[in-house]
Order: sequence, then C-alpha cells, then structure tokens
Amino acid sequence: MVAIDGPAGAGKSTVGAEVARRLGALYFDTGVVYRTLALVASEQGIDPADAERLAGIARTLSLRVAPPSVDDGRLYDVWLDGRDVTWAIRSSEIDRLASQVSAHPSVRQALLKLQRDVARQGRVIMAGRDIGTVVMPDAPVKVWLQASLEERARRRQRELARRGLTQSLEEIRRELADRDRRDATRAVAPMRPAADAVIIETDGRSIEEVVEAVLAVVRDRCECARHGADSSGVASVATSKD
Ligand code: C5P
Repeated sequence: MVAIDGPAGAGKSTVGAEVARRLGALYFDTGVVYRTLALVASEQGIDPADAERLAGIARTLSLRVAPPSVDDGRLYDVWLDGRDVTWAIRSSEIDRLASQVSAHPSVRQALLKLQRDVARQGRVIMAGRDIGTVVMPDAPVKVWLQASLEERARRRQRELARRGLTQSLEEIRRELADRDRRDATRAVAPMRPAADAVIIETDGRSIEEVVEAVLAVVRDRCECARHGADSSGVASVATSKD
C-alpha cells in the first residue's frame, strides 16, 4: 500500500498512475469519489451545506473506476450509474463543490468504507488528502507531493489547454488557493502530511524524476517492491448500493 497525498495540482494522479503501472498495482484516486458526489449534488440541486442529504447520497453512491476506454488523455474512466462522467467531474464548478461537500464529517464517514474496501484489494497506490493520516494510516509507504502554488497553477493551465479549455493563470491560482485553504482547515481529516510521510518536492522536477523519487521510497520501505510486477495500471473498482 502506497499513500500519496498533497494539494490540488501537485501531480498525484499522473505520478500515482505511473508508479502503479510500474509496480503492477491498482491506482485509485480518491478525489474521484468526492467529485462524483459533488456532481450528483449539483445535478439534483442539493445545497452543498446540506450534510444530511449529501451523506445519504454518499452511502449509496454507485461509481466505477476502470481502465481508459477512450484515448482522449484520460488516465481512467469514471462511471456513475452506467454513465461516463470522466470529464463531467473535472469542471471548475465541481472542483469547488467537491471541496465543499468533502468538508462534512458525515460525508467523509460515509465514504470511508468504500475507500478502505479498495485499499484491501491488495497492491494499491491511493491518492488523496488524508490517505496517510485517515484512510490507510498503516500504509508502509506514505509520500506527500509538494509543489508551489505558482507551479501547480501552471500545470493546471497546461492540463486545461490539452482539453481545449482556457482560463487565466490568476483565476486558476485563486481557485487552487481557495481549495487548499478549505481542505487544510476543515475540522475532520484536514489535508496534511502524515507524521511518517516522506515529503517530495516536485517544483522544477520532471514527472519521471518524481516517479523515481516515489519508487525510491517504496524500495526503501517495502519488501514487496523487489518482487516484480504482475499486472498493470488502473484496475476496475466498483462500489455497489448494498
Ligand atoms: O484530488 P482532487 O482535486 O480530485 O480532489 C477534489 C476534492 O476532493 C479536494 O479538493 C478535496 O476537497 C476532496 N478530497 C478529500 N479527501 C481526499 C481526496 C479528495 O477531501 N482523500
């Protein structure tokens, strides 16, 4: 088990998916869970402050993450009740909403089991904000990806450009800073590095260099990494309504 935490835009998904591919592990991005809940809330017109209704939906959230079925830059598919919502959960409205709905303790509690069930599936690289501190506190490998606000805003702008979208650097910077503040100051499971996490600075480093840095921590802390890979990349993860 490898826990990768860090702020928005630190490269957790790109790095996490590649580390998983090299180790033959499953990659699971927990942000997807909060984003999908936010999408449902938005579509059903639910007030993001209505913790009770949101937690009710969280308890029955039926989502599936699977290897990419379309070659359009996605790292994985996200299906909600049989609908492909891979890009629908990546709008800036959902960025903001996900951070609001995830602040409710009852919502986090409702989604904890789902995440821990994935963690129990075996070799897992899990990315988020509270993986090392709350979801997998016993993970033998914990890393925290660090990047300056400036660098993260530039990365986000390039990512948007690849999808044909434009947004000013200043606006992206403001949105990231707002989200960081909300995620880091909430009462339950705030975004922060676990005491035993290795902090990896990613500013000025290539994806390959960061992947290598994470693999070095894995080799250092985890015997299993020496036994080669047996599968690859994103495996299917599904939740059910039961
Ligand atoms: O990682 P990503 O940007 O997709 O996450 C979207 C939002 O979901 C975050 O801003 C945060 O509020 C929430 N989140 C969380 N805990 C996690 C993963 C994501 O609170 N483990």
